[in-house]
Formats: sequence, structure tokens, C-alpha cells
Amino acid sequence: MVGSVEATPPAGSDERLASRIGVLALQGGFEAHCAALGRLGAHAVEVRTPDELEGLDGIVIPGGESTTMDIQLAAGGLEQPIRDMVAAGVPVLGTCAGLIMLDRAHLGLMDIEARRNAFGRQVRSFEQDVTVRGLGDEPLRAVFIRAPWIEHTGSGVEVLAEVDGHPVVARERNMLVAAFHPELTDDLRLHALFLALGSGQDMPAHERSSET
Ligand code: GLN
Repeated sequence: MVGSVEATPPAGSDERLASRIGVLALQGGFEAHCAALGRLGAHAVEVRTPDELEGLDGIVIPGGESTTMDIQLAAGGLEQPIRDMVAAGVPVLGTCAGLIMLDRAHLGLMDIEARRNAFGRQVRSFEQDVTVRGLGDEPLRAVFIRAPWIEHTGSGVEVLAEVDGHPVVARERNMLVAAFHPELTDDLRLHALFLALGSGQDMPAHERSSET
């Protein structure tokens, strides 16, 4: 079902106002992201070709296997269109392998360097409560699956959460990344934060007050 709509806004919401969010569907965990976005009232669309990026209000790059995803992005001619859209201000959420894809060594969009499989040389998956700045005092239950962490961050990058002293959630302008899988739990706060990046509702008060 290429380009099919995976999730639609809940009954009663106004479809014309719903954000159209593309979820990269080359491989990996895209369906759960579509469902999470749909529960928040967004209109999630699977993306496999450059045409399907047209007119989107946001993009999600899900988890998966970053080497495979890298090859598929290049083969599908998706790298440059995604770079152009995000550079033009379209919000992007990268989770796990998606975080890796946004770093300096891959799409080169975020000023971060990811370290693959950082939590152990063997397959290492675990769940942990993580407090994320901007998402309230209640920690998020985070599912890490052979996760990366962020090894280096540039000066424009805001670290929103850490595990064992290593950044696992970060934001730079319209770009948000998480090393874990927020789509695998019922907690929708990280997806909500991503949707807010496109609405101008997420800026800290001190930034808002300097606006004219
Ligand atoms: N270990 C994977 C990689 O390096 C990422 C795992 C994931 O996305 N869950 O590509």
C-alpha cells in the first residue's frame, strides 16, 4: 500500500486542520509511529518516494537498521529532498536509527554525532524511566533496542534527557531526536512535542518574550 494513509484523525476532529505527517516507511518501525500520530489527531502518511514528501507538515524517521536505511534513502533519491525540507523548517523526529540518520555522518542535518549500539557490544535492549526536559516531572518509560546515544553535540543542540550521562533526547531548532522508541508505549508526550515544533507552541517563555 504505497503512500497509503495509515492513521486518520479521531472522529470529530477537523481533518482540514490536521497536520499531514510523513513517516518514512522504507523499513523498521513505521506503523506504530503512524498509530501514535493518529491518536494525537495528526494525519500520518507512509513515505517511500520523493513525491510523497510533497506538502508535508512534518517527517518522522523511525527506528530500524541505520546502514540499510542509509542505503535505501540514497537509492530512493530521498536524501536531498529530506535535507531541503528540514533545512526549510519542516519539523523532523528521528528515533533510534532515525537519530543516527540525522547526525553529521549521515543526512548531516543535526549538529550531533551518534554512536551506534552504544549501550553494549552485544545486543542490548532495556527499558528505563527517563525524565525529559519540557515534558513535565513524570518520567517517560523508554524502550531502548540496540540503541545509539549521542556522543557529541554542537553548541546549538539542547540536550533534553540523558542516560548514564549520555544524551538520549535532543533538539536543535525544528529537529527532535530520541535514542529510544517512543512509539512502542502509550505515552504520547514525545510525539506531541514533535507536533508542537511545527505549531510554534513549544518555544520557551524567554524566547517568546523577545518576539516583536
Ligand atoms: N542498532 C540499530 C542501528 O545501529 C538501531 C536500532 C534501532 O533503531 N532500534 O542501526
